[in-house]
Amino acid sequence: DQSLEKLDPEVAKAVGAELARQRDTLEMIASENFAPQAVIEAQGTVLTNKYAEGYPGRRYYGGCEHVDVVEQLAIDRAKALFGAEHANVQPHSGAQANTAAYFALLKPGDTILGLDLAHGGHLTHGMKINYSGKILNPVAYHVREEDGTVDYDEVEKLAREHHPKMIVAGWSAYPRQLDFARFRRIADEVGALLLVDMAHFAGLVAAGLHPNPVPYADVVTTTTHKTLGGPRGGLILAKEEYGKKINSAVFPGMQGGPLEHVIAAKAVALKMAAGEDFTDRQRRTVAGARILADRLTQPDCTETGVNVLSGGTDVHLVLVDLVNSQLNGQEAEDRLHDIGITVNRNAVPNDPRPPMVTSGLRVGTPALATRGFDDADFTEVADIIAQALKPTYDAEALRGRVQALVRKHPLYPGI
Ligand code: PLP
Repeated sequence: DQSLEKLDPEVAKAVGAELARQRDTLEMIASENFAPQAVIEAQGTVLTNKYAEGYPGRRYYGGCEHVDVVEQLAIDRAKALFGAEHANVQPHSGAQANTAAYFALLKPGDTILGLDLAHGGHLTHGMKINYSGKILNPVAYHVREEDGTVDYDEVEKLAREHHPKMIVAGWSAYPRQLDFARFRRIADEVGALLLVDMAHFAGLVAAGLHPNPVPYADVVTTTTHKTLGGPRGGLILAKEEYGKKINSAVFPGMQGGPLEHVIAAKAVALKMAAGEDFTDRQRRTVAGARILADRLTQPDCTETGVNVLSGGTDVHLVLVDLVNSQLNGQEAEDRLHDIGITVNRNAVPNDPRPPMVTSGLRVGTPALATRGFDDADFTEVADIIAQALKPTYDAEALRGRVQALVRKHPLYPGI
């Protein structure tokens, strides 16, 4: 018996416990999702055995005829889904995709202009202790204090002042859509390249519920495991003129052999993302986030200092603002964890509390929408969260309401 359970019961036990955790709790980390069974199946195949350095039709190893088929399917589907001229499906992760894009188009010391980490940007958009902040010269733009939206006037001012080689648009924690046309105009004015990192909202773009950055940007990077709902991995889309540079930055520039089993899973996810079920799922995702934002801005919440950054959401997440609440981000995260809801605490812009504590929560709906939650279910989830963030609450009753939802929507019934 070569099964995992027989061969390595310790790992098997932890995997089983993780499956149970995912089944028995409400997953509301905005960057997470549940990969469909077909995606997990594709990833767990013998394609993991294959070395395939190079690209379809131009490999440095023999025996690549079948992985070529798989990788070409993933490339063609990515291009078709997002209307891109060029796609590279090999980056092992979103961070790798950004690294490759920088290596392809920039030189060490070049200036990039990206959204401040504390205002919703990602580590790879120029954080000082990330490679992007060490190798490049990062300048940060911010969101406006009054309404929590990107300060495009500041972006324009900083672009004129610093003449960045690249402007980075995209975010890890931001509840609104970006104005890609405005970013493009600013980039053109100062002769900068425009990179859009759509890691978070790629699924919404695929479903037509969010503007597509591809027509505006020189390069678009994404993860494949967030709203897109595929395997953990990265993807780069680009204008044809940058295709060669992007490909050689990924391999041999930064990576060795591609993970063809993950690329197979990406191909499956990209096929699914073109379907109607996927569109419906993304619609429920955005509707769920709106329902949550509406609930948390009702007087019974705002009276206790709970609010929502930017007053609402257009996407798959809500940023809960606890600056005026007695509850800090850490306590709120722990409280929700205690009743069976998983979220992450998140610093709000100009957060008065320390970074390990924070005054905010990032709450996302993609995983629950994948689980089948509809507007009525999200209304119940929103009320559970609203009650849990009050000064006094009945943990036992809320735990029971969470468990009722968990039972209503079984996860991975076939596994
Ligand atoms: N870009 C953005 C905007 C992200 O939010 C993230 C992950 O959270 C990444 C890139 C990095 O992705 P990965 O964790 O796959 O490296």
